[in-house]
Amino acid sequence: MSISDITVGFVGLGHMGGPMAANLAKAGYVVQGFDLAPAALEQATQDGITVVGSAAATAVDADVVITMLPSGRHVLDLYDGGLLAAARPGTLFVDCSTIDVADARAAHERLEQAGHRGIDAPVSGGVMGASAGTLAFMVGGADEDFEAAHPLLDVMGRKVVHCGGPGVGQAAKICNNMILGVSMIAISEAFVLGEKLGLSNQALFDVASNASGQCWALTTNCPVPGPVPGSPANNDYQPGFAAALMDKDLGLAANALRDNGVDAEIGLRAAELYRRFHETGHGGEDFSAIINDIRHRSNGENQ
Ligand code: NAD
Repeated sequence: MSISDITVGFVGLGHMGGPMAANLAKAGYVVQGFDLAPAALEQATQDGITVVGSAAATAVDADVVITMLPSGRHVLDLYDGGLLAAARPGTLFVDCSTIDVADARAAHERLEQAGHRGIDAPVSGGVMGASAGTLAFMVGGADEDFEAAHPLLDVMGRKVVHCGGPGVGQAAKICNNMILGVSMIAISEAFVLGEKLGLSNQALFDVASNASGQCWALTTNCPVPGPVPGSPANNDYQPGFAAALMDKDLGLAANALRDNGVDAEIGLRAAELYRRFHETGHGGEDFSAIINDIRHRSNGENQ
């Protein structure tokens, strides 16, 4: 079967889904897409996507249906609201949204009950990765469904990892982002402590980046301007990875921690700190800007 014989339904043509669907169309797949936002549909038409009249219509005669939506509620509501019913039996569903592990598992169950198959395949790499086709996919699902989806994931991404069974792709995503959120807070607290003690940011960077404190949050996304010229701190904390998305992902991690009785005081606290940072108006800043919140609070200033 050649690529042009494969029809892909695509629901959710937003910041991420729009360029992902465009890359599939560019590669030669027949893509039939839908979004609630008229502007997304206009852009999709320009990108060679056939716009259809409803989410369910994307699944009609499709070989694969991809969803890229804000939350698990959106995915499950669409599955229950006609998307699964409109698909041919045995259709492959690929959910790329970042959602609760529990919702991802519920989605797999609904697929099975409806006679379909599917994988959870959340991504990292942001809007730039979506446009460039360099996303990383973390996949949960059966071996044969992973293999069936692999060629499409290769078009949209550069790294594809099969992490395990249903929901385990989402598990990988939230575990990784919990490490990231916690480490960014730890790095930021260390810089602010250093400042109070008369240690320059550059000196702390020179030591920690070559010692056991070394991590991505320090050496790539350094929260203070100077040591890493490409980090968002040098560009007025323009994202990058927005604090609102870190808040979302840590919220999902917190749900999974509670659901599974994990004694993770630091992970839960990181979720609270990013929630507060988001709610006080900083959701649009890079997540490394949390250092400014820590510094202000340390100086007795309200945020
Ligand atoms: P977005 O809000 O830009 O896109 C979501 C789209 O879904 C919107 O265009 C919205 O209109 C559409 N939508 C919602 N309900 C719908 C429905 N019932 N039918 C059809 N369309 C519907 O969000 P995004 O930034 O593209 O993120 C999508 C997902 O990817 C989220 O789960 C997010 O957590 C995840 N993600 C985002 C990034 C990022 O950098 N933006 C990075 C990694 C993962």
